[in-house]
Amino acid sequence: MNQLSTDCVIAGGGPAGMMLGFLLARAGIDVTVLEKHRDFLRDFRGDTVHPSTLQVMHELGLLDKFLKLPHTRIAKGTIEIGERHFTIGDFSRLPTICKFIALMPQWDFLDFLADEAKRFPNFHLRMQTRAGDLLTENGTVMGVTATGPEGPLAIKAGLTVAADGRTSTLRDRSGLRVEDLGAPFDVLWLSLPVLPGDPTDLVGKIKDGQLFAMIYRTDYWQCAYLIPKGGFDTIKAEGLAKFRDRLKAIAGFAAGRIDSAITDFDQVKLLTVTVNRLREWARPGFICIGDAAHAMSPIGGVGINLAIQDAVATANLLGPALQKGAPDFATLKTVQARREFPTKVIQAFQVAAQNRILAPTLASMKTPKPPLFVKLLNDWPWLRQFPARFIGMGPRPEHVTLAKK
Ligand SMILES: Cc1cc2nc3c(=O)[nH]c(=O)nc-3n(C[C@H](O)[C@H](O)[C@H](O)COP(=O)(O)OP(=O)(O)OC[C@H]3O[C@@H](n4cnc5c(N)ncnc54)[C@H](O)[C@@H]3O)c2cc1C
Repeated sequence: MNQLSTDCVIAGGGPAGMMLGFLLARAGIDVTVLEKHRDFLRDFRGDTVHPSTLQVMHELGLLDKFLKLPHTRIAKGTIEIGERHFTIGDFSRLPTICKFIALMPQWDFLDFLADEAKRFPNFHLRMQTRAGDLLTENGTVMGVTATGPEGPLAIKAGLTVAADGRTSTLRDRSGLRVEDLGAPFDVLWLSLPVLPGDPTDLVGKIKDGQLFAMIYRTDYWQCAYLIPKGGFDTIKAEGLAKFRDRLKAIAGFAAGRIDSAITDFDQVKLLTVTVNRLREWARPGFICIGDAAHAMSPIGGVGINLAIQDAVATANLLGPALQKGAPDFATLKTVQARREFPTKVIQAFQVAAQNRILAPTLASMKTPKPPLFVKLLNDWPWLRQFPARFIGMGPRPEHVTLAKK
């Protein structure tokens, strides 16, 4: 087995792992990121780059370069309940440099971070390398075992970070306990063509017990169709024709495109929704961040943003200790102390929305009455900054304080 050593090993090259790897390498820390896939190309992974992430890019001096990558911008959030149209969010009043959500394929975002991080000789990205288990000594995590193209590896590190997503292998190996908050729905993702004259805002639709969201992506619509938990097999058993009829009933201006665009269930990707969080995020020598610490519901599309915010906080809090050696357990715990509050607040909002609005709507087959807050947001444009702030920045937004070396 090949032996390596590094200051910090990070399992997972998603938004959390790549941002943390970049920030630590920028501060002169030797960091190794392990990513099990050969590239970052993955469909329907969530492509939202929120104003707070764009703010981080600005603080890092990377924003202008980043925004040269192809992207679309969402400045408003709208919802259709039955035949009525409501505007409920406005990002233009946010106290951030970018007053919009940028929609960019996640692989472009991750490739960008990887390219910037590779400028630092102390940044090592190992693709096609799967973290397998924790190396421990007297109860302290001392690194990981992994398998890469060149065979098995043992990587010793002063800090091991699990950023390997919501099915985290390292979290399972660590014995840290996950609290499941439950989710009564799953999401089917699909694409529909864009035609000239289409709107470009984010569209949410609620009608006759169906929930549908359409995200404008310049050359296609990225669409989310919500179904009761575990309901995809029933939908498949009913057949493609019935599924198309369901979509046509909710897709509004895009209904006429369903038959030609959806010709096989292979074009429909299932997201099994999970909402959970760790009770403890760390043990000596080891910490979980991003989805590995807290899987988020897709409501609000905040998972990537939260993962990035975790990475920034982890770099700020643990970077100075890593520059001197291995952070002690008390220092590791400061990350949970900082990031648990925003996670809990957002999950509480998501759980309330899914249990009070989504689940009853999916069960009723009726169009609900517009809630009072939706009417207020529509009638009072000034109020729309608050949901935009909650989604676009989140509670306790992070700023980069770990200096470049
Ligand atoms: C279908 C779908 C749609 C979504 N849409 C949105 C959206 O619109 N907006 C939004 O904000 N969020 C969305 N999300 C959620 C979002 O993708 C996650 O919250 C976010 O990516 C979490 O980032 P992360 O870095 O913590 O984990 P991940 O992005 O899951 O990254 C984990 C990485 O670790 C790698 N990995 C896993 N195991 C190992 C291992 N053992 N060794 C090495 N590498 C490993 C994986 O390949 C992956 O690259 C969506 C998720 C899904 C599944």
